[in-house]
Amino acid sequence: MNIELVTIGDELLLGFTLDSNGAHLARELAAIGVTIVRRTSVGDEAEGIAAAVREALERTGAVITTGGLGPTSDDLTKPSIAKVFGRGMRMDNEILEALRARWIAKGWGRELPKTNEQQALVPEGATILVNRHGSAPGIWLEDEKGRWVAMLPGVPREMRGMFADALLPLVRERAERAAGSTRAADASVPVVVSRTIRTTGISESLLADSIAPLAAQLSDLSLAFLPSWPGVDLRITSRGRDAAAAARALDAGEAVLRTAAGAHVYGTDVDDMAKIVLDLCAAKGFTIAVAESCTGGLLGARITAVPGSSHYFVGGVIAYSNEVKATHLGVGDDTLIKHGAVSEETAREMASGVRARYRANVAISLTGVAGPGGGTEKKPVGMVCLGVDIDGEVTTATRNMVGDREEIRQRSAQWALDQVRRRLQA
Ligand code: ATP
Repeated sequence: MNIELVTIGDELLLGFTLDSNGAHLARELAAIGVTIVRRTSVGDEAEGIAAAVREALERTGAVITTGGLGPTSDDLTKPSIAKVFGRGMRMDNEILEALRARWIAKGWGRELPKTNEQQALVPEGATILVNRHGSAPGIWLEDEKGRWVAMLPGVPREMRGMFADALLPLVRERAERAAGSTRAADASVPVVVSRTIRTTGISESLLADSIAPLAAQLSDLSLAFLPSWPGVDLRITSRGRDAAAAARALDAGEAVLRTAAGAHVYGTDVDDMAKIVLDLCAAKGFTIAVAESCTGGLLGARITAVPGSSHYFVGGVIAYSNEVKATHLGVGDDTLIKHGAVSEETAREMASGVRARYRANVAISLTGVAGPGGGTEKKPVGMVCLGVDIDGEVTTATRNMVGDREEIRQRSAQWALDQVRRRLQA
């Protein structure tokens, strides 16, 4: 089954918002064997919305839109599409009451503002898609020929919730009907499913070299290399198999890539290095502390972004100046004078200093030249030194990071977490 997607909003055309809704819907639908054949973005303009939807309907008869369902004057999706179907708008009292009740329950005021009442206006003959994650209801509109448009909110969290709760079951049913299946859930429908194997600490070309000899074992799975600052993601995709066969093929493909990339693999799909490190700390009953110079708190932020991190993360010091490195972490003046702030010797003392002061099992330190200024011939921009102290055993390392200031900082934090992962897994 083919579907077209129309994402609506000036912000998409102006480049202030990336179309993550389109990406999410494409992935989710591919996983049930439905193909997004075209994605169009249009601004908040009634004629443009109507034209895009009309054309998409003519091509596929099945359209999903996101955005423009809110209460403000730039939210034109419902009336524009109602016109395409030759329908008028009506006030839905049930929705109006639910909006009022929600407004009061949230403590936003005693009366629903007039502007918000517009959200209860729906096209004649529409089916309402319930929004459990926000106020604007979604709409399913269908004509006598069975051509349909589903209108979802723009806010990604609301859109994803409504898609999963209300739209996915409807689309699945239509897809099965289109495929001529009589069973409620047809396990033999071919699907498109991907899995991402996450690697770090190895370049795209070295990875390609190590995978090449094993490539035949990936059979017909397609392989994409996706480099970014956390590392190179390897995405394998199965097409044309049913869900069970696709899962088996991806398992086999993952095993091949793990063999090729070895210890550089740290997880799959949306796995996050900080979460992996915290899980390893949890398994060993370890606490963790950080001493950061060039990353200025980024490492701590990565760790504390993980829910439940307070059980293992005790805290840290942002030791930017030499004075703070000396007074708060106990880095020796002679070390700083002899080796400099960006050195493995300083990183070593920063790590052991914070571990001792914070009584943690694991301590990580980072000190480097994030740029764009401050580089020298011996210590160029991008040079970063790391210290990892686990129960008194300190290891240090130096790496030259590429990229701009932000990339250098992000790559440094990822590298530091990865070094801890490797030691805790050893
Ligand atoms: P609201 O009730 O907030 O007005 P809405 O359904 O009318 O919701 P919009 O006003 O179009 O949605 O967008 C709301 C928010 O969702 C904006 O911050 C916008 O940047 C974001 N958004 C809209 N469309 C997309 C998209 N395709 N991908 C990612 N984010 C989006």
